This record gives sequence, structure tokens and C-alpha cells, in this order.
Amino acid sequence: MYDCIVIGGGISGISFAHCLHQAGKQVALLEKDDRIGGQIQTRTLDGTDFWYETGAHTCYNSYVSLLSILESLGESGNIRQLNRKYPYKLYTPDGFKKITSGLYLPEMLLHVPRALFANKKGKTVREYFRYILGSRNYDRLFSKAFRAVISQPADDYPAEMLLKKRNSHHEEHPRTFSFAGGLSAMVNAIAAKDGFQVSASATVTGVSRIGALYEVTAASGEKWQAASVALATDPPSAAALLHELEPDLAALLADIPVFHSESMSIVAPAKTLTIERMAGIIPLSDEFFSAVSRDLTEHPDLRCFTFHFAQSEKTDSEKREIACRTLNIQPSDVTGQHLTTHILPSLRIRHLNMTAQVADKKKNDSIYLLGNYFKGLSLEDCVQRSMEEAKRFR
Ligand SMILES: Cc1cc2nc3c(=O)[nH]c(=O)nc-3n(C[C@H](O)[C@H](O)[C@H](O)COP(=O)(O)OP(=O)(O)OC[C@H]3O[C@@H](n4cnc5c(N)ncnc54)[C@H](O)[C@@H]3O)c2cc1C
Repeated sequence: MYDCIVIGGGISGISFAHCLHQAGKQVALLEKDDRIGGQIQTRTLDGTDFWYETGAHTCYNSYVSLLSILESLGESGNIRQLNRKYPYKLYTPDGFKKITSGLYLPEMLLHVPRALFANKKGKTVREYFRYILGSRNYDRLFSKAFRAVISQPADDYPAEMLLKKRNSHHEEHPRTFSFAGGLSAMVNAIAAKDGFQVSASATVTGVSRIGALYEVTAASGEKWQAASVALATDPPSAAALLHELEPDLAALLADIPVFHSESMSIVAPAKTLTIERMAGIIPLSDEFFSAVSRDLTEHPDLRCFTFHFAQSEKTDSEKREIACRTLNIQPSDVTGQHLTTHILPSLRIRHLNMTAQVADKKKNDSIYLLGNYFKGLSLEDCVQRSMEEAKRFR
């Protein structure tokens, strides 16, 4: 019998399990994939030590909650600075350009003073940023740049949740960082150091109540019982699992749209991938959303770019063709390729203040909801939500 069963092994579930385990609670974490991490997915090129990120890639020293976990576990020595000398580049029909080359400067100068008085509250990204940057600038450049930031179309996303200012920084750590071996090594280190029970390949299909306890059932038929349950999945999965136990809450969660994306990572020898080194690519076209490079952790022989696309829009060979054309390499130059899928909440203005909305609908106090649809999409937003809920647990 556990104090809590955590469903979902992304950063939200892992950080919640960490907090409970540190407080002396018996925790089991169930993850449907064969590995933990969720959208943190580092891969390694077969037969080499060359790792690359197919999902989340960058942490900042403003991620103070995440850093506090790494520090408490003695893992901060494995933090690795990301090289900041390479910028993002704009991919235009005329090749790679500086991001600023996409700006209409007169319109920018005319509109930017408005930022002094503008308020993001209740506005969509498009409404707010068209107002302070000008419509042409927004439509041509910033809508593409913001799409790259949140890995999905950003126009209707709440402006308050984009580019949030964080006031605290742990200056003793690098401004932008990853982890030795990539971000999956970070989540694996947290779970391993903590030692709470992790069951991978455990797809939860049901959560029911038996007296004062919750019974969690997996697709395999295996069952777990606990005094409380935490759902750290995407909103549709949480809605499906709570359908019978918490119908009103399930309806609220089912109303959160999600965006499915596909990421294709392309690895090639540095000697064939001759485009300049860069942090990533923002295209002016809609062929892909963005590409994130591994150049910020330089490798002498290999380079990698992970291209993000909306799901199902293109076949795999079309995606590969776009990636190779953009990188100016031949398909035969590719030494490694990996395709992965992601699911992210597409928050709208009506989803602001989900914490209060969830508290209003939820009937069972011993159910905890975690994830990237409360404070925002970033890893730090997820950890903060988990820490707040862990406090409520205690
Ligand atoms: C391409 C991309 C790039 C990003 N880059 C960054 C970045 O650089 N920096 C940053 O801060 N953030 C970044 N983000 C955002 C961040 O990675 C995510 O918001 C965050 O990782 C979400 O964590 P989570 O634990 O809430 O959800 P997830 O990581 O989605 O984890 C949910 C887990 O629940 C599991 N699950 C679902 N249903 C069940 C079930 N029935 N039974 C058991 N398990 C189940 C899933 O398999 C999954 O592992 C990026 C996101 C994407 C998609």
C-alpha cells in the first residue's frame, strides 16, 4: 500500500514523486512508455556517445525549483553550460540570415513605445504582440518565432503565459544549461538518486475508489492501491482516467485542446554539414516550425538538428527532404535519424487560472493534478506546480 501513486513519468510526475519521497512518503510512479522523461527525450546515436535532444533541450538558471532538486540530490555537478555564442538563425528563401533581418524597422519603432503601457492580461499572443510590434512584424516574423518557443502555433495562446519574466536566478549556475549526457540523464538521475519505485511500460487504464483507498489498474491487469493519486499526464489522458470518479473535473480537462507534433532529428558528420554553427532555425515559411541544433554542446565530429513539424501534415520522406534541403546536405549524408511525437496543451484565454478552476471542480482532496497546463509549458513551470501540490499533500 502506497501513500501516493503518481501516473505519468515526465518532469511533473518525477518532481512530485521526489518531493513526497523526500518527505518520507511511500510513492510509486507509473509510466506508459518504456522510459521515463515524457517530453524530455535524449537519444544517443548507435555505437557512439553522441547524444541529442528530440524534445526539451534548454534549462535556465531562473529554473530555481528544478535547480533546488538537483542541488538537494548532489547532482548540480552534472550541470553543463550551453554555449551561448551561437544565435538562432532565420531561414529565408535566400538562405540563413540574422533574426533581425526579418524586421520592418519603421513599423517596429512606431509601435514599440506602446509596450510601456500595454497590458498582456486577457489578450492572446497575436492581439498583444501585434499591438506592440506592428501587424506586419508580428505576422512575418514574431508569429514564427513564438511558434518556435512553444512548439505549436502561438497566435491564440494567452500572452500572459508566453515569455514569462522570472525574478529569481541562481547566478552560481550557467545562464542556460543542460546536463551531462543530456536532459534524460537529469531525470534518470533524479529518479535513481531518490529511489522511489518506478514502473515503466505501465499504461494506466483505470482509477477507482475502494473505501478510503484508490485502486489504479494498468493495461496488463496489474493493480496498485494508495491513499492518494496524482495524475501527471496530458489533459485528455487525465480526463479519460477521471471520467467516472470526477466527471466535472474530467469535463474541464477534456476542454483543453492539445497539439500533436512530430520531431525529426537528423545527425550528420560535421564535415558534410557545413552550414554555420547555430542554436537553431526559425523558418519564414510554414514548412516546419523550428529546428533545434545540438551545436550548443559542440562535438568535434557530429552535428544534429531536430526539426519540429505539426503531426501528420507530411510523410516521413517529405520531412526528411525538407530537413536535408534546409541543412544543405544529401540524404546519403545522414548518419542517424530519429522520429518522435509530442503532445502539448494548446492553452487558451479560458484556461488561465487552471489552479482555481481545478480546485473548484475537484471533489476528492486526495487527487492531485500536475502538468504543463497550470503555470506554463516550461520544465520550471511543471516543477513549480508539482512542488505546490506536494506542499498541499504534506
Ligand atoms: C519539442 C519540445 C521542446 C521543448 N523544449 C523545452 C525547453 O527547451 N525547455 C523547457 O523548459 N521546456 C521545453 N518544452 C516543454 C516541456 O518539455 C514540457 O512542457 C514538459 O516536459 C512536460 O512535462 P510533463 O511531465 O508535465 O508532461 P509529459 O512530459 O508529457 O509527461 C507525461 C507523461 O505521462 C505519461 N502518460 C500519459 N498517459 C499515461 C497513462 N495512461 N499511464 C501512464 N503514463 C501515462 C506519458 O507517457 C508521459 O511520459 C518543450 C516541449 C516540446 C514538445
